[in-house]
Amino acid sequence: MKLFTCANCQNILYFENTLCEKCKSTLGYWPAGNRMVPLVADGAAWRGIAEGVQPDATLPALRTCANAEHAACNWLLDANDSTVLCASCRHNRQIPSLADPARAELWRRVQRAKNRLFYSLLSLGLPVAAPDGTSDGLIFDVLADPPDQAADHIMTGHQNGRITLALAEADDAERERRRTLFDEPYRSLLGHLRHEIGHYYWDVLVRDGSALEPCRALFGDDRSDYPAALARYHREGPPPDWAGAHVSAYATAHPWEDFAESFAHYLHIVDTLEMAAYFGVRLRPVLPGPEARAMAAELKFDPESGGDFTAIIDAWLKLTSMANNLNRCMGSADLYPFTLTETVVRKLGFIHTIVGAQRPRA
Ligand SMILES: [Zn+2]
Ligand SMILES: [Zn+2]
Ligand SMILES: [Zn+2]
Repeated sequence: MKLFTCANCQNILYFENTLCEKCKSTLGYWPAGNRMVPLVADGAAWRGIAEGVQPDATLPALRTCANAEHAACNWLLDANDSTVLCASCRHNRQIPSLADPARAELWRRVQRAKNRLFYSLLSLGLPVAAPDGTSDGLIFDVLADPPDQAADHIMTGHQNGRITLALAEADDAERERRRTLFDEPYRSLLGHLRHEIGHYYWDVLVRDGSALEPCRALFGDDRSDYPAALARYHREGPPPDWAGAHVSAYATAHPWEDFAESFAHYLHIVDTLEMAAYFGVRLRPVLPGPEARAMAAELKFDPESGGDFTAIIDAWLKLTSMANNLNRCMGSADLYPFTLTETVVRKLGFIHTIVGAQRPRA
């Protein structure tokens, strides 16, 4: 994620802002330009403004996403667009009933995570195939558990481009209960979405791309029985040496889970590094000795150009060493409670390569 500036007053803006606190402009996120736009009303539409409340001639007449009505989206679309939902929300298929204020609030949390996911997908140039009647676009179903206590819970998962997210995962207490139950060091809405989208891009970039054989060489043979593998994992847990070649215990369940977990981590890494770069974070430990000198780093990641993966991982290890220790100073859990072995880094590097191949050439 990047930082933004207000084109009217130069205030620093953040991705979820809807109002510039300095010039009081209404704000929206314009995905086509990857910018936050200060707005003035223009009849039924909105106009983007530049410095001094001048109209920004580079922008079309704009409209807010229909989900702004529920305080559930701050994205903009072209006022002449034939749909009322933005580039992220038009992939929503089922959402919970908004008549229940508690459910509506949980859904808003899902929306915030999903818009952050779409920020990454769009800025990395990953295909999301507009759902214009084709069966291979991305679709999100956010579902609440049925009221019948005896009925099965909604399972978060992916199938053929359809991502189901259990609304219960937006409830902090319930998600923490599940995190403890499954003995996970980290569980978040954004993490779920980044994992499930990994399954989608396995279909699109690996299976339907030309990366199946190199993927199998790294992640293992995905033709092994998937339901049986998941059942075995839930029965027996991971093998004792799982951390040598897997980013998480769950990644050992099946090669598809390994790929999805690795894909999620790739998005964690590049999104967080981009933000560190926007803040101009530089590391220079105030200690003597070669190890301290080797910790020095300038953190940078540009999603539009990608860059060398060795440098990305080097920056990431240094940044997370600092961030984990900052969190420990606050008595909080580590920001990044994972260890990246050489094998795991090779898997992440493979994802960097196939994601990079999607990037539009300048
Ligand atoms: Zn402003
Ligand atoms: Zn929207
Ligand atoms: Zn999975």
